[in-house]
Amino acid sequence: MSQQGYVAAPPYSQSQPGIGGFSAGFGPPNSSLHYGHYGDPNSSYSAPPPGVSKSTVPFGTSAPVGPPPPGTHQFSQNNFQNGPSTPGQQPHRFQGPPPPSNTGPSYPPYSHQSQPAYPNTASTSSTAQLANQLNSMQINSYADIISCSGPGTTPSSRMSSGHPTSFQGSQLPPPTQQQITLPPGSQVPPPANNVNGLCAQPSLPPMARQDGIPGPVAPNPNLQQPSGQPPGPGYHPQQANYGPQMAGSQLSYPGAFPGGPAQLAGPQQKKLDPDSIPSPIQVIENDKASRGGQIYATNTRGQVPPLVTTDCVIQDQGHASPRYIRCTTYCFPSSSDMAKQARIPLAAVIQPFAAVPPNETPLYVVNHGETGPIRCNRCKAYMCPFMQFIEGGRRYQCGFCNCINDVPPFFFQHLDHIGRRVDHYERPELSLGSYEYVATLDYCRNNKHPKPPAYIFMIDVSYRNINSGLVKLICDELKTLLDKLPREEQGESSAIRVGFVTYNKVLHFFNVKSSLAQPQMMVVSDVGEVFVPLLDGFLVNFQESRSVVINLLDQIPEMFADTNESETIFAPVIQAGMEALKAAECAGKLFIFHSSLPTAEAPGKLRNRDDKKLLNTDKEKTLFQPQVNSYEALARDCVANGCCVNLFLFPNQYVDVASMGLVTMYTGGTLYKYNNFQLDADSTQFLSDLRKDVEKKTGFDAIMRVRTSTGFRATDFFGAIYMNNTTDVEMAAVDCDKAVTVEFKHDDKLSEDSGALIQCAVLYTSISGQRRLRIHNIGLNCSSQLADVYKTCETDALINFFAKSAFKAVLSQPLKTVREILVNQTAHMLACYRKNCASPSAVSQLILPDAMKVLPVYMNCLLKSCVLVGRPEIPTDERAYHRQLVMSMGVADTQLFFYPQLLPIHSLDLKSDAVPAAIRCSEERLSEGGAFLLANGLSMFLWLGVSAPPELIQGLFNVPSFAHISTEATALPDLDNPFSKKLKSILEHIQSQKPYTMKLIIVKQREQPEMLFRQFLVEDKNIYGGASYVDFLCCVHKEICQLLS
Ligand SMILES: [Zn+2]
Repeated sequence: MSQQGYVAAPPYSQSQPGIGGFSAGFGPPNSSLHYGHYGDPNSSYSAPPPGVSKSTVPFGTSAPVGPPPPGTHQFSQNNFQNGPSTPGQQPHRFQGPPPPSNTGPSYPPYSHQSQPAYPNTASTSSTAQLANQLNSMQINSYADIISCSGPGTTPSSRMSSGHPTSFQGSQLPPPTQQQITLPPGSQVPPPANNVNGLCAQPSLPPMARQDGIPGPVAPNPNLQQPSGQPPGPGYHPQQANYGPQMAGSQLSYPGAFPGGPAQLAGPQQKKLDPDSIPSPIQVIENDKASRGGQIYATNTRGQVPPLVTTDCVIQDQGHASPRYIRCTTYCFPSSSDMAKQARIPLAAVIQPFAAVPPNETPLYVVNHGETGPIRCNRCKAYMCPFMQFIEGGRRYQCGFCNCINDVPPFFFQHLDHIGRRVDHYERPELSLGSYEYVATLDYCRNNKHPKPPAYIFMIDVSYRNINSGLVKLICDELKTLLDKLPREEQGESSAIRVGFVTYNKVLHFFNVKSSLAQPQMMVVSDVGEVFVPLLDGFLVNFQESRSVVINLLDQIPEMFADTNESETIFAPVIQAGMEALKAAECAGKLFIFHSSLPTAEAPGKLRNRDDKKLLNTDKEKTLFQPQVNSYEALARDCVANGCCVNLFLFPNQYVDVASMGLVTMYTGGTLYKYNNFQLDADSTQFLSDLRKDVEKKTGFDAIMRVRTSTGFRATDFFGAIYMNNTTDVEMAAVDCDKAVTVEFKHDDKLSEDSGALIQCAVLYTSISGQRRLRIHNIGLNCSSQLADVYKTCETDALINFFAKSAFKAVLSQPLKTVREILVNQTAHMLACYRKNCASPSAVSQLILPDAMKVLPVYMNCLLKSCVLVGRPEIPTDERAYHRQLVMSMGVADTQLFFYPQLLPIHSLDLKSDAVPAAIRCSEERLSEGGAFLLANGLSMFLWLGVSAPPELIQGLFNVPSFAHISTEATALPDLDNPFSKKLKSILEHIQSQKPYTMKLIIVKQREQPEMLFRQFLVEDKNIYGGASYVDFLCCVHKEICQLLS
């Protein structure tokens, strides 16, 4: 694949004289003038358009007119109607933990530093300015009005607490929304960096407080204004006022803070009351309370599903389960003009092989024998609930292209009095959102039925891996793991064949044919032109060759015990695995266990090109690109041969993840990374990952196609995928955790009657070697009212889209531009809502639509991601690694990744099975008398306050006091007491839902590792300078004011 694959094409390439949009262009590429683009330097904010004044929906008339389309939801603060209820639906309690109570326990403020005095610095005036702004900020919602406390006025008072605001403009019933008020006169907001100064850590020395100097407003409060940055009043996006391209630019981190844990701030003296701004936890808990534990039936088009954090039982009644498809909005704007106005990305996050819990129905398999699946003659869409039968059932109209098709005679059925086939409920393809078809030969490579896939284990046996004990660990594990290879539900044993290769500078293939007494090794030393030295005996059925394989696994560690070889090859390893699969004419997965930068003379040889000087320059993007082109060509070959590459990396230093991970990324594989792997500390995590991966349900040699009804189409795809053309998404394999995010744009007007229909079809080879089609259908509504679009947005899916599009854009754009576009797009979506959907209100009010209430906080978390923030302290490999992981994540995974789960565990209810309600990720929610568990899907921390009760410490660690706790441990001891057992079960529960095994890191308050933990308190200012939630909200509000002025 050429370098062009990285140039974000249509979405980023539309020139936009106004405000940079974030890849959410709509309409035909060349017709859009409203979307920013990543590639054109001219697009940088030169002339903010006059707000969203191109609105075709006059202010004040945008209320939903007439009855809402079926399935839309009225959102309200505390009440979330689940669309039309299913007749006959029985309430059904999910066996899982009951939803925790609505409100989390409150904790005393984190108080080891009492009321820090705000240092008196040169920035006093701006501080005062800011304080004025803040102290009159006020957040209104239907439910309550909460003010912030600020210096100078009514400190700590709740200005209007308890008095619900009435919305002024009564001509329309606005959706519930959150309003945050700024006083008149604050439209020219004080610099955001002042906000930051205000909230700065009290222990900062004065020199670090330059961030309080008034100057150009940066969304990043921490911005240290470097000299030379022209000061300017107000927030002028076109000034690129995020600072020069150096450390300290927008939302990047200021100079390193001196001192370690000492900077752990106490409560900030002057700032917006965090309880008054929208809480992600409250949103999550409200949804759990209203929808958790219930049956969610997918019987209504455009219905907004429960949040991804809410446990419920999903019943397929005609639309794909939200486990398979989630959308950024469930009501598309009917015209591209509207879409351009709102700039809400129209996207679906599709996880075609998502795991379903045992209490939900697995997919039915439809088999039409040699006839194969029934498809529309024109658009090739598969038979589905969106096909309308007519003429007594003899013909049907395609819901996607409207073509009238004949019903094949074998499929004919009469219609009932409402025009529905009488066999409607007997055929999954007529009544369900998701099902599978058995594919015919036409759907098979070379018109031949595929063979069952194979797994090839490829172990780096260079000096370091042997010496660390890793090779022995892997070999020992495989002896038992190979009994657990995945198989079909009814299958007695796995059809998957296995093969083994070891390598350092050369490759060793092993013949493990069952008839052999001993395995045989064949060395391939010509790594420039890899060939497979044996066909027969390389890929074997483990059960048949068990003794030879076990024998081999016993021998490998000894065989290389005396090795001095420290150099490794890498690309030839992948090549060899791929050639072996090709020769065996089957798809499969490679499991590569590798430690070092491949510096041996061979194709794909890499050098250490890590260069911190590139950070915050236009060349920073090169750090995310592969350093040699050969990996792209290799990836293409792998995809073409159905070879998926899973890579387990064990680096001690820079290994160029951006290059080494590339093939993994394009082949739908999974990348795992264990820095400084230590056998005793890290084996558990690695082996658990390996087991999960080997046992995962996977589709092989897959190709996905997304079809849509007329008026819109899929234009961009994000994921661990490969695209040879603009429509076919190729995946050498796709497992249950991989999601593809698909962006849609208008071609034409959409009809409110017929809605927007999406069909995703994945052709793949099953684990037993059967060629199948997995079909997911979902119908969305369309509306000419922007309010309908905003009402049905799903913030978690939006963040998934924004994360992936931004992480794709970093390959071709300066990070600064990517961040600016994210901020701007956030402001734009909210400004458009305010202008077109909200009732009139003071200009200074920040108004958040209910469904996007937590968009700013999540967006800020994304902006603080190490991928988007270049700092010398953050290893380049870590950034490339995070980028790669996020690109294939589903909505649940990105939600947790960007906003970690923080659980108070000192107050566990031992009698209940429930996981305690989470609390917000902020230091002030911690208490030194408590213990807290934090997990983001990749890392897990147990934080212990200095005054944590001795009983708790004894119960968890079996030591008498805080001082005795060792932070070396990566797991809790197995102790026979209810508290320990309860916590362990919570850990297991959290872990069970996540693809990556999280290593537990024990953190004691005020000890060094706490710095690491604090980076996950995402509502706070980041130690590297990312904005706090409060500050970011101010920043977004200022941008909105700019847009509306
Ligand atoms: Zn059609």
